Amino acid sequence: MLLNYNKGQIIQYRCPKCFNNEAVVLKAEDKDFTEKTAGVLWVQCQECGFNDNVLLPAKDFA
Ligand SMILES: [Zn+2]
Repeated sequence: MLLNYNKGQIIQYRCPKCFNNEAVVLKAEDKDFTEKTAGVLWVQCQECGFNDNVLLPAKDFA
């Protein structure tokens, strides 16, 4: 399975610190496919630089 995300891509993401709506993808990682989680995105807020990771729901890949 290949995630449809690339390093440097801008995604919709609500930053919990500054509430900016966009973040840049640092890394996309495949996870062992389970019912709930198919992958993890490591993202960084474009506004304040806050780093976070986002679990990608398996349904996005169904
Ligand atoms: Zn932010």
